Formats: sequence, structure tokens, C-alpha cells
Amino acid sequence: MPISSRVAELRTRRTKIVATLGPASSSPTQVARLVRAGVNVFRLNMSHGDHAGHAEVYATVRATAERLGRPVAVLADLCGPKIRVGTFPDGAIRLRRGERITVTTRRVQGGPGLIPSQYRGLARDAAPGQRLLLADGAFELRVERIDGSELTCRVVQGGQLGDRKGINLPDASVSAPALTTKDRADARFALDLGVDFLALSFVRDAADVRALRRLVRRAGGDAAIIAKIERPEALEDSDAIVAASDGLMVARGDLGVELPPEQVPVAQHRLIDLARAAQKPVIVATQMLESMIEQSRPTRAEVTDIAHSVVSGTDAVMLSAETAAGRHPVAAVEMMARIARQAEGYLWEQGAFGSMTQAAPPRNDRFGAALSRATAQLSRDLEIRAIVVISRSGTTTAEVCSARPAAPVLAVSSDPAVCRRVGLLWGAVPVHVDPARLDDPVRLAREVARAARLARRGQAVMLVRGFSSVPERNTPSVTVLEMR
Ligand code: ATP
Ligand code: MG
Ligand code: MG
Repeated sequence: MPISSRVAELRTRRTKIVATLGPASSSPTQVARLVRAGVNVFRLNMSHGDHAGHAEVYATVRATAERLGRPVAVLADLCGPKIRVGTFPDGAIRLRRGERITVTTRRVQGGPGLIPSQYRGLARDAAPGQRLLLADGAFELRVERIDGSELTCRVVQGGQLGDRKGINLPDASVSAPALTTKDRADARFALDLGVDFLALSFVRDAADVRALRRLVRRAGGDAAIIAKIERPEALEDSDAIVAASDGLMVARGDLGVELPPEQVPVAQHRLIDLARAAQKPVIVATQMLESMIEQSRPTRAEVTDIAHSVVSGTDAVMLSAETAAGRHPVAAVEMMARIARQAEGYLWEQGAFGSMTQAAPPRNDRFGAALSRATAQLSRDLEIRAIVVISRSGTTTAEVCSARPAAPVLAVSSDPAVCRRVGLLWGAVPVHVDPARLDDPVRLAREVARAARLARRGQAVMLVRGFSSVPERNTPSVTVLEMR
């Protein structure tokens, strides 16, 4: 059984890659190498770095994408009310099991036995006997005593603690709104830059998403909003959250601290199904190739995790510290792309693309779901080589892609911003065209399929347009075209 026999037939990778930029990856050369390695969306994490730095990286991404002729999107990830440790003289300290250390909210630099945190309320929220989890739950402290701004703690699980790693208080309730004052300033800054996506951290409910939506509108921006699911409350309200947002991120770092870890894979499955049913993109994030921060090869478990996410039908998989601060950013992206391709080859061979687990369509949008499923079915039955979707806002593209059709989706738009945004969608290949060419869609469909080298004379492509969730604008049409 030759395992990889049918990967080449797929031509394009269906699962998309989001990569976080940071010190290891922000130079023009690195950004270009990452784009060539297959990054579809770059993530700027507003938790690290400053506005001047982000503006510079943003300009680098735009210039590089332009130069390489690739539609690459930028996602700005807002910090949310995350509690973090401060900085240390050498960038890290060692925590030894059993050792007694102090966590302080004074504005000082840390050192051996001293961990500062910017969060003033720490001493108020925590109580003796409770746990403090550090760095996405990798290390554990137990609070023994609290005196004013000082928390005396015992190290239960130690290791190397780096600058600005997160702190979670799983035994206390921290109920801050998702959009902090800093987030509002960061969001306005990111919208001014022109980012394509804003990711909102620690979303509690749909109201949090709507608050950011109002800010985006008032700023006159059109960035799409990705809700990061990393709190137990958000899982309870996930139907309303997906309806209010433009996509989801399964933020497994904090989610895996807030929930027992064994519940995270189940939550991931549910959220992928939920987003697909709502015809919105979903990103699986955190620790996907964690060991590649240091090593040049991933663990088998990491490889399997990515393959599993692909088989579950996620739109995108994400790299965090692997590309932001790791030793092998380009190799990590290449590895991720290869794992995705191989898993997709298997699905393709099984004829399983459209049938990856799928929840029932939401009651309010049966129409869109039915049309997109019919399109996928037709494309498979007729052995369609490419589905050309002409879409003004990208909504039709999202609908068609949500059915995970067998043929690649050539997502045609005259708006470069729409081309960048649909790049996050499973299976979409953005194609930017001059507005004048939209006058003759049939001709355009044949031309773009030929230019993408997806169809030859005698083969068939499909042209899809006019899907809309607004009834009066809904004039769906699906045309099967033979290539000439
Ligand atoms: P989040 O909760 O937003 O995931 P995080 O701290 O886990 O926050 P990631 O983006 O997941 O951040 O991981 C990136 C890691 O790379 C960080 O933990 C940090 O140590 C490191 N890093 C250093 N500088 C930067 C930077 N400018 N941008 C992003 N990451 C950086
Ligand atoms: Mg993280
Ligand atoms: Mg987070």
C-alpha cells in the first residue's frame, strides 16, 4: 500500500497555515521564506512587542506578499485580560520543585526566586492554598501566604520560565470583559494599519464579540472578527458566539488550563463542527509543533495531532512560538504543510472530503447549507476539476468551502482584501482579477481554471455565484462548463 500515492493529484493544499511572527521570523528574508513555505495568514500577537515593531512587521508582510504575488492575510491577536509574568534579566529564570518563591505585583524586574506580574489584582483574586499555573499550564505554584503585593508560593512543578509567559488562576474566578482598554487601543491601531482579521481573546459570550464589532464599525474598518475560545463560559455560549463572529479559534493553550486537558480534544471537535455548520472558518491553535521550538524534528504525537485536526476538517492550523521565537520557523511551516498534504491525500483517496464529520446546518440558514452541499456533491459526481466562485464579500466562497468539496475552489474577487481574507478558508485558492473581467463570468471561469492549471480542454469546471443569506439578494446559480 503506497501511502503517498495520491497526494500529488490534489494539486493544492486544502488546510491553511497561520504563523505567528516574532523575533525569529520578522525580517524581510524570513517572511519571504515563510510565505514560500506555505503561510496563508500571519499573526501579530499584541501581547508581545510594541506598536512601532508591529507596524514595521506589517509593512514587511505587505511588501513581501506584493513582491511574491501571493495573497497573504494579517491577523492581529488582541491580548484580552490575560495575566502575565514580567521580564527577567536573562530572559528566563529556573523554577526548582519544592523551592519557595515570591510573586510580586510591584513594578520590578524579576530574578531568581522573584516573579513580577503586571496584574495589580493578583493578590486580591488569589488566596492561600490555590494554584497559579504558568506558561499555558506547564509549571505550577501553590500560594502559601499573601502580604500586600507579595504572594509567597511553593513550586510544585518547575522548569525554565521565560519572559511574559501567562499566569492562570484555575481556582479563582477572574471575570474581566474580553475587550480591555489596551485591546481597544491595539484594535484601533491594527485597523489603522489595515489588518484583515482581529482575534478576540478570552471571549465569554456573544456580547464580547459585538463590543469589538462596534469598535470596528466606528473605526470605519472591515476586519473580520475571530473569537478565541479559551474559557469554559465560551463553550456554553458557543452557538451565539459563532453567530456573532466571522470565525473561531480553538485556543488550546488557555483552554487546556481552564478545562481538564482531556476535555480539550472533544471541545476542539465540537467547535470545528459548529464553525463548519455556520459556514465560518475555524483555526486550531497552540503547541502543534511545540518541540520544534528547539528540535528540528517534531514528536510523533505532534504530527498525529496536526493530521487529526486536518481529518476533523479544520480550516486552518496555527503555529505560535514555533515561528515567533523558535529555532526552525521555516522548517516548522514546511513540516506542517507536509503533514496536512499527506492527511488530505488519505481523505481524498477515501473520497471523504465532503463527509468529514459535519453537524446539522443551523436552522436559520438551511438554504446556504443545502446549496453548498449540493455544489460539493455535484462537483464530486461530475469529476469537476475546479469550482470557480465569484464573490463580492467572500460569503459565497465561505459557503462553498464549508461543504469541503473535492475540487479546489478558485475564489475570484476584484477586491484584494477579499482575496486575502478567503485565503483562510479550507480549499480556497484566492484569484484576484480586474473588475472589468467580471462582466463575462463564463469566460472568466474558464480562464482562471486554465491559468491555475487545474483544467484542460474537455474537462469540466463549475461556476458558482449569487449565493446570499439575504433572501432578496439570493440568486444562486451553478453552471457546469466544459473547457475549450
Ligand atoms: P497567547 O495567549 O496570545 O497565545 P502567548 O504568550 O502564548 O500568548 P504565542 O503567540 O502563543 O504567545 O506564542 C509566542 C511565544 O513567542 C510567546 O510565548 C513569546 O515567548 C515568544 N515571543 C517573543 N516575542 C514575540 C513577539 N514579538 N510576538 C510573538 N511572540 C513572541
Ligand atoms: Mg499561546
Ligand atoms: Mg491565549
